[in-house]
Amino acid sequence: MPLQQRTPTPVEALVTRLQRKYRVFNRERLTWEDAVTLAAAHGIQVELRRAQRDAILSVGFGPTRILVSDRLSRSGWAVFSVVHELAHYVGHPGPRDYYLCSPGWHHKTESQANVVGLLALWPRPGGPYPKVLKIEPPAEDGLISFVVAYPVAGHVEIAGAWTTRTLMLQRYR
Ligand SMILES: [Zn+2]
Repeated sequence: MPLQQRTPTPVEALVTRLQRKYRVFNRERLTWEDAVTLAAAHGIQVELRRAQRDAILSVGFGPTRILVSDRLSRSGWAVFSVVHELAHYVGHPGPRDYYLCSPGWHHKTESQANVVGLLALWPRPGGPYPKVLKIEPPAEDGLISFVVAYPVAGHVEIAGAWTTRTLMLQRYR
């Protein structure tokens, strides 16, 4: 009997869909220009503007856009933010806007968007993909730290075969 094809996880499905539009995703670390191009490949315009929120996926009025605070560091956190919001657009369609860091980092949809955003900066071509355990501090100046669990190669299914790393990004320019 042939081996059963495993159903892709939501994150695997998202990665495939983004990569189909822009091959660089999850192969190389994306630049700001890459992130804007990736969004454009999905028909989404990215707008930098003076704003309180770091990023918003705006679906309410006019064409769907990703609004990004112009204070953000474009070498990292802004890239994460664009790709995080794009993951919502692709994977979690609906009538509501998404605000970065809201409603909470630990909801299922947030977790998926966080992993996809992480892969934009720290690619894992072919997976297996990490889990983002924590992102902090979302509301302060300075560095944002990501606590990330990576599966140990070849042992994805074994409980406990994960190694935890902390990755840092500068929040503002
Ligand atoms: Zn989100």
